[in-house]
Amino acid sequence: MSYPAVAADRSRWILAQRPDLTQERQRLPVDRPSGWILEEEPDGNGVARKGVTVFLTNSECPWRCLMCDLWKHTTLAPVPPGAIPAQIDWALRDADRGSVDYLKLYNAGSFFDPRAIPPSDLPAIADRARRFQKLVVECHPRLVGDRCVEFRDQLAGTTCLEVAMGLETAHPGVLERLNKRITTDDFARAVEFLKRAQIAVRTFILVKPPFLDESESLEWAKRSIDFAFDCGVDVVSLIPTRSGNGAMEELELRQVFSPPRIETLHAVLLYGLRQGRGRVFVDLWDLDRLCSDAGVAANWKIQFHSINLRQTINPKFILANPSSPWSKDGELPAQSSNEKI
Ligand code: SF4
Repeated sequence: MSYPAVAADRSRWILAQRPDLTQERQRLPVDRPSGWILEEEPDGNGVARKGVTVFLTNSECPWRCLMCDLWKHTTLAPVPPGAIPAQIDWALRDADRGSVDYLKLYNAGSFFDPRAIPPSDLPAIADRARRFQKLVVECHPRLVGDRCVEFRDQLAGTTCLEVAMGLETAHPGVLERLNKRITTDDFARAVEFLKRAQIAVRTFILVKPPFLDESESLEWAKRSIDFAFDCGVDVVSLIPTRSGNGAMEELELRQVFSPPRIETLHAVLLYGLRQGRGRVFVDLWDLDRLCSDAGVAANWKIQFHSINLRQTINPKFILANPSSPWSKDGELPAQSSNEKI
């Protein structure tokens, strides 16, 4: 069966490719987050800030994006009121030793989805967030609205609210096939709404989504960065597209998806930084998957981490890595094209 052209058929096809994780999802404790990590990132003035990211456990997002594997860590039913504040307390007991500036609450969906985060929990969440300089939550662009502004007010002006939204790609045809059910206009409207409410915006951009070959993916990642900054986002986070949800493995078999080359990711990051329009980060969580050699992967990880923190390019690393496309003429060498569906 070819990849469906109609959205409802696509959702069914994506669901049909999933491995059955019902038992694992039933066993997820609702008073514990899936995990938490400590990270560092620069603020808008270049000052390094410590942050804790808490991966909340809650029910699955209602959308069925082609590349999404976040549903694996979600419950089959909504969590009861009180569970999310309890999860935050559990994580902060160990993670926050008083020196953490940012809190990120990532919930494998939308923070402003009432089925994911019970609205009655929002004041308790705001209470816990107020001691941080900044709170970052994620949200689908279609759920951006008055609830964001009400929650911003609950933070009482002491904590800056930032909403992270996936643009994924500005390529209209690929965005449609990703099944996110948004257009670039929807994304632009959501950013405009948030910025008017003085809420900061971070966006996720996929590097090499399905249906694009290596050089097309470089070109469209650059265009996506330009589009996001044109809309007014403050931060771009680059996500190397990964498999792991069933559907992406099927597309790999059909040769319409493969992960990006690490050099492509590097080139996109450098392009974003050179624009000087906002902070640009590479998501380091799954970087190891892009290199078969663990030592090479570790070296790249150090470089990306350094660039993320400094927001500047390290010319020594580019010279020492002749495979970096930026050591040549700023464009990727020609690659063989993936077969299109
Ligand atoms: S909106 Fe986000 S969480 Fe929901 S399916 Fe899409 S990528 Fe996954």
